[in-house]
Amino acid sequence: MSINKIEHIGIAVSNLDASEKLFSQLLGCEPYKREEVASEGVITSFFLLGDIKIELLAATNENSPIAKFIEKKGEGIHHIAFDTANITNTLSEKSQQGFQLINATPKDGADNKQIAFLHPKSTNSVLVELCQDK
Ligand code: ZN
Repeated sequence: MSINKIEHIGIAVSNLDASEKLFSQLLGCEPYKREEVASEGVITSFFLLGDIKIELLAATNENSPIAKFIEKKGEGIHHIAFDTANITNTLSEKSQQGFQLINATPKDGADNKQIAFLHPKSTNSVLVELCQDK
């Protein structure tokens, strides 16, 4: 089986400080880390609930994919990330199955992961992230 479980759900937010407060209150726990992914123009904040994470994503510049997402659709659920034991194999399997890849090869993501996205055009408009622990 190539997909193990939901690893995290990514939520696009405009103001990271305000949303950290909001989600701390909602979930009853504090974020365990903040991490910037400079290559993506995002700063992330992670909450852990059981073994599933909530990832808040805020743009650090106007060309960030998160800035563009919020401009188009407003704040909200941005992507679902699935854990996979071997991201390279899973990517080639999904490609063979006809899914459209945004990233043909994995790249460095937040929280010590290798990540790659599938195009929402091929997944009922859900942006899907595949990830694997480094
Ligand atoms: Zn993510």
